[in-house]
Amino acid sequence: MSSRRWLLADQLGPHFLDDPAQPVLLVEARELFRQRPMHRQKAHLVLSALRHRAAELGDRALLVRAGTFREALARVDGPVEVCHPPSRAGLAFARSVPGLTILPPRGFLTRREDFAAWADAPRRGALRVADFYRWARREHGVFDGPPGRVPRRPRRADGAAGLVASPPPPIVEDAIDAEVRDELDRWERDGVRFLGRDGPRRYPATHAEADARLRHFVAHRLPDYGRYQEVMSAGDPLLTHSVLSSSFNLGLLDPAEAIRAAEGAWRKGAASLSAVEPFVQGLLGWREFLWQLYWYLEPGHRGANWLAANEPLPDWFAGLDADAVEARCLADVLAGVRDRAWVHHAQRLLVLGNYALQRGWRPAELAGWFRDCFVDGTDWAMNATVIGMSQYADLGRVDTRPYAVDGRYVDELSDYCTGCRYQPETTLGDLACPYTGGFDAFLHRNHDRLAGDLRLAAELAERDDPQLRDAVLAQEEKRGSSPP
Ligand SMILES: Cc1cc2nc3c(=O)[nH]c(=O)nc-3n(C[C@H](O)[C@H](O)[C@H](O)COP(=O)(O)OP(=O)(O)OC[C@H]3O[C@@H](n4cnc5c(N)ncnc54)[C@H](O)[C@@H]3O)c2cc1C
Ligand code: SF4
Repeated sequence: MSSRRWLLADQLGPHFLDDPAQPVLLVEARELFRQRPMHRQKAHLVLSALRHRAAELGDRALLVRAGTFREALARVDGPVEVCHPPSRAGLAFARSVPGLTILPPRGFLTRREDFAAWADAPRRGALRVADFYRWARREHGVFDGPPGRVPRRPRRADGAAGLVASPPPPIVEDAIDAEVRDELDRWERDGVRFLGRDGPRRYPATHAEADARLRHFVAHRLPDYGRYQEVMSAGDPLLTHSVLSSSFNLGLLDPAEAIRAAEGAWRKGAASLSAVEPFVQGLLGWREFLWQLYWYLEPGHRGANWLAANEPLPDWFAGLDADAVEARCLADVLAGVRDRAWVHHAQRLLVLGNYALQRGWRPAELAGWFRDCFVDGTDWAMNATVIGMSQYADLGRVDTRPYAVDGRYVDELSDYCTGCRYQPETTLGDLACPYTGGFDAFLHRNHDRLAGDLRLAAELAERDDPQLRDAVLAQEEKRGSSPP
């Protein structure tokens, strides 16, 4: 009797199946939505994607609705197999189920044993994403061969001005979405708590929808991707980003396919290397690196807290109360999380993460917030992105430096500061930008711990006036945890 393939909620694309006749198991476990509040749009997307997959597979699929995964598995007859789950907790659970066969991971290009061999190589030294990416490019033969001729594109304008990026094709909701929405409304009436606001489904729930978005991105947005990657704009939440992270993390899209499609655009001369390479580096470099480090580094990495940051997340932030915030950048980005369950990388790092870092919020609590509030939020991404890159809680173990920046830096990369009630260059007083005052206070509070970082040590050296130091520390202490 052939095994039934259990497809987890991050394994919903065709590349998680081999045999077109193999029976499939899909499980909707209520525990997933009740353990802790998650964004309503994320809950919708996960349920919609599971149900769409069941509908696509028809009689081949058994969709079990149960309170827990263990209850669901107890209802299934015959042998069951599953591809490697995406979290340590998931793997421990899978190992505890008698007779469940665990297959190697899918949805990533580099195998875990190959990464370990790369990381353990003699004289490897610190693990650097740039080294890993170079190795991965060679290993997977990406960007081998001659490029096409790329027509010249206009130079980047300030901020996002001048960018005309064709928006991704809209998602058309169907009867499955209507059913999911009714069910989530019912759960809410029964006391299940969600974060954020409901809204039309914005992200793909099927391989076909994700594939259409990928093709559209490659044709229309990829040619400008590299130039606008770090820009933030109040008027354009997507800019040239692909907004495909939830599709990769639900397993709807194979990253190998996306890399080939982007490389193909470069080879045909439809996009330059400077546009395509940052996108490929995100997928083949960063995404793989994060996944590998999650398994390679010890489980205790999540608890790292080098800067002894022990403040709890304030309610207005945890509850996505963007209307309580006056700082234009933070209000816009927090509203993006509330209304779309997604904002792009620079907004996560420089507006959300930077604000938390400056105020010493608990890194592990912040990681839980990012995981639950974002449609692409996933446990394996948290260690390197939040604990490492954004909060510097692991002392640069994950190839990074503290992403503490002041309002002037936000101003350089965005159009937020025009029209904000604060002034990015002002440190003290009623008009003091919370990021600028917050940056100085962060430097002073962590004086000893940051002495080893050249950039921040130089910034500290410029701020050696004890009176100004005391004034900024007193100001930020007074601001406390209230919304800026
Ligand atoms: C604090 C913080 C939390 C984050 N949490 C997550 C998370 O839970 N899940 C997640 O997938 N990504 C996370 N990221 C990484 C990155 O911000 C998102 O992958 C990206 O913003 C998704 O939008 P996109 O699909 O438009 O990406 P694009 O800019 O279009 O990039 C294309 C793809 O490359 C991958 N990618 C690009 N940059 C990164 C990166 N630095 N790390 C990992 N993958 C990358 C993603 O799969 C992404 O879909 C986080 C980053 C930060 C700073
Ligand atoms: S002035 Fe400060 S708070 Fe206002 S938008 Fe600029 S960086 Fe943000």
